[in-house]
Amino acid sequence: MSNPRTRADWQAMADGLELRTRAFIDGQYVDAADGRTFDCTSPIDGRVLGQVARAGQADVERAVRAARRSFEAGHWSRAKPVKRKKTLQKLVQLIEQHADELALLETLDMGKPIDDARNVDIAATIRCFGWTAEALDKVYGEVAPTGEDELGLVTREPLGVVAAIVPWNFPLLMAAWKLAPALATGNSVVIKPSEKSPLSVLRLAELVAEAGIPEGVFNVLPGFGQEAGEALALHMDVDGLVFTGSTAVGKRLLQCAGLSNMKRAYMECGGKSPNIVFADAPDLAKAAEAAAMGIFYNQGEVCTAASRLLVERSIKDEFVARVVEAGRKMQPRHPLEPGAPMGALVDETQTRRVLDYIAKGQAEGAKLALGGNRIAPVDGGCYVEPTVFDDVRPEHTISREEIFGPVLSVIPFDDEAQALKIANDTEYGLAAGVWTANLSRAHRVARGLRAGSVWVNYWDGGDMTAPFGGYKQSGNGRDKSLHAFDKYTEVKATWINLAD
Ligand code: NAD
Repeated sequence: MSNPRTRADWQAMADGLELRTRAFIDGQYVDAADGRTFDCTSPIDGRVLGQVARAGQADVERAVRAARRSFEAGHWSRAKPVKRKKTLQKLVQLIEQHADELALLETLDMGKPIDDARNVDIAATIRCFGWTAEALDKVYGEVAPTGEDELGLVTREPLGVVAAIVPWNFPLLMAAWKLAPALATGNSVVIKPSEKSPLSVLRLAELVAEAGIPEGVFNVLPGFGQEAGEALALHMDVDGLVFTGSTAVGKRLLQCAGLSNMKRAYMECGGKSPNIVFADAPDLAKAAEAAAMGIFYNQGEVCTAASRLLVERSIKDEFVARVVEAGRKMQPRHPLEPGAPMGALVDETQTRRVLDYIAKGQAEGAKLALGGNRIAPVDGGCYVEPTVFDDVRPEHTISREEIFGPVLSVIPFDDEAQALKIANDTEYGLAAGVWTANLSRAHRVARGLRAGSVWVNYWDGGDMTAPFGGYKQSGNGRDKSLHAFDKYTEVKATWINLAD
């Protein structure tokens, strides 16, 4: 099906899809060494899409060995930057050609609306690889400021074998944030997609091979965190470990790095981001739409979800009414339906987790202003209504813990100092927003917020030109921009004696 436009078009394309369900090691799709598989289930309707290889210790050994061998061979690691650039640009073309298929895999696998998968996930994946490929031959080394009898060169070298462990909320895009800079700088990679969403990264493997990236440079191990994931994290021949996922797992992976070979370890983790609306916000209608979008987009399964809405008390009731109105229009629909504002949550476990938090919010005394229920726009699927809690207190569980679902906590405040105090009263520090027409206040509050990204008078700005990452327990290191290269390279100082 070329150029699918309707739900029937997408469904027809889904019916004809050939899934890649085996691991990809050393340039080949292969079964797990012990032949084990797991069910890949669609949250759209609970249907099993296929059986995916369940990688274990033996597969980790095979993949790391292939990655090491390819790295030492140098066909990629020591290739001229311009060659790596052209190969990655070819990969970009292939992703563009298969954009509809990749988008469909995301939607079937984890339930997001097809328009979002196509226009956000895959579009941003293309930009990520394209921008990084274009940048890679424009990064220079340094010459140290020495006296005339010596020369000090500062150069960057690839780490070697990089293991990447990624989540399910933007499966291909979160993978791209790691893969693009890792490959651009000459590393060999073993990636483990989430067991909840392995299909798009497995499909990417074939495109990587077709683009001409040598065998062994790119390996995919589908499987579970405590099996394939932990074996990678503990492996003595993995040089770098990059992760996006929950803070609890990120902490465990930092331990694994320390318990094994002190591999370079960078964690992008969770968030509980505050969105602060002052009474002097330039456009309250726009701010309310953005507040709703900030929490309900992608079913709330976004690390930067605007999950805590801090509103100045004088406008709180009026503002909450607007947010509730905007949220009401975002009811989940069949994810293959073009224009669906929300789709399915990723699986039953996540659905139960979200519903448990909603029950806890009510039990602790927050006021339910919208939603709160599981619904069934598609039989057998995982759907929860957009949900808004009003009059939440900072100590309530729903305002402290990351829910990762469509649940908003509204917290009133009385002045700027109190807003900042509540905003920063969290173990997380991924993102924050501030809405005000007062320029000095905007800068003052932005400066006071302990978060890796701050948005003034909008939510979720950013592109490949700026770094992304967290303060505090939202993680360390940065994805995107030239800063991302720091995670995948060692810096070497070479001193040359010019005196004799
Ligand atoms: P998760 O931590 O449960 O899993 C992430 C990945 O880690 C998966 O591939 C999983 O299989 C693997 N894993 C789990 N346990 C492991 C272990 N013991 N050892 C090795 N690997 C293990 O997270 P998730 O549920 O997939 O994703 C949701 C989380 O990701 C949220 O907390 C969200 O905020 C975070 N996230 C952060 C960002 C960011 O850029 N900061 C982006 C997207 C998602």
